[in-house]
Amino acid sequence: MQVGEVKEQLLALEAEVNFQLDLGFVRIKFQQQLEKDANMSFIGGNGRIYIQPSALGYDISLSGKALEKEMYSFMHKLCGQECTDYKQKNKSKGKKDQPFWRVDDFEIVKKAVYQYARKPGTTRRPIEKPAPQAMSEAPETVDRETLVSWLAENERRASTLPESELFRRAAMSDAVARKVTLSGTAFIRDSYVAASAKKLADGVCDLCKEEAPFLSVNNEPYLESHHVKWLSHGGADSIDNVVALCPNCHRKMHIRNDETDRNILIGRIGGRNY
Ligand SMILES: [Zn+2]
Ligand SMILES: [Zn+2]
Repeated sequence: MQVGEVKEQLLALEAEVNFQLDLGFVRIKFQQQLEKDANMSFIGGNGRIYIQPSALGYDISLSGKALEKEMYSFMHKLCGQECTDYKQKNKSKGKKDQPFWRVDDFEIVKKAVYQYARKPGTTRRPIEKPAPQAMSEAPETVDRETLVSWLAENERRASTLPESELFRRAAMSDAVARKVTLSGTAFIRDSYVAASAKKLADGVCDLCKEEAPFLSVNNEPYLESHHVKWLSHGGADSIDNVVALCPNCHRKMHIRNDETDRNILIGRIGGRNY
């Protein structure tokens, strides 16, 4: 198994376990070491349970003598065998710590993690902000960029919930979106520059080269002006930094801003005759 794949599974499991066992509280928390990124574990219980990718699928290991004592026989029964080996060994000192079981089935991982999370010693902490369900926790005043990333992160977290829980929460929405006051600054773009970029594009998107998808209320092909180097990144508000894009491509540039796309746009600007 790949580290990334296992990480995805474990993040989903973290959300599932926390919501199944204790709605609104964190029981277990996923952790991953920065340098050795295969070292993934859960904390929150007695000791730490590691789930690491292995040739067969997963290595489930119990770190900490107390946890070993608490869960060894459960794991023995669950896997139908003594531990595969120990992660920490030192023959000369006779040290044998962190027993692990090598398994191929994520269902076994799930059962082990549920057992770990159910233990009475497990700490409960309120879910940290911003939790996916906590729209009421949005700040009163916020700048646009912070709000956009806050909402995106919230939605990402929401999408990791088990579907049944996600839909239940959606049904519980109070249907009235809260309002916040936006603070901060905005750029006043030069209208002549924007209008010129659209004239030069002549109704065709500078990125995908498709015709504008619809006409504006003034019966002009609808395109949007875009700064190749963003104003917020110090880009110039001049015709040699502005292109005209269809709404799809414009969104794509703001979400992905791929270098290959930027180079296409720079090429279009360079190839203009006017
Ligand atoms: Zn386009
Ligand atoms: Zn733009």
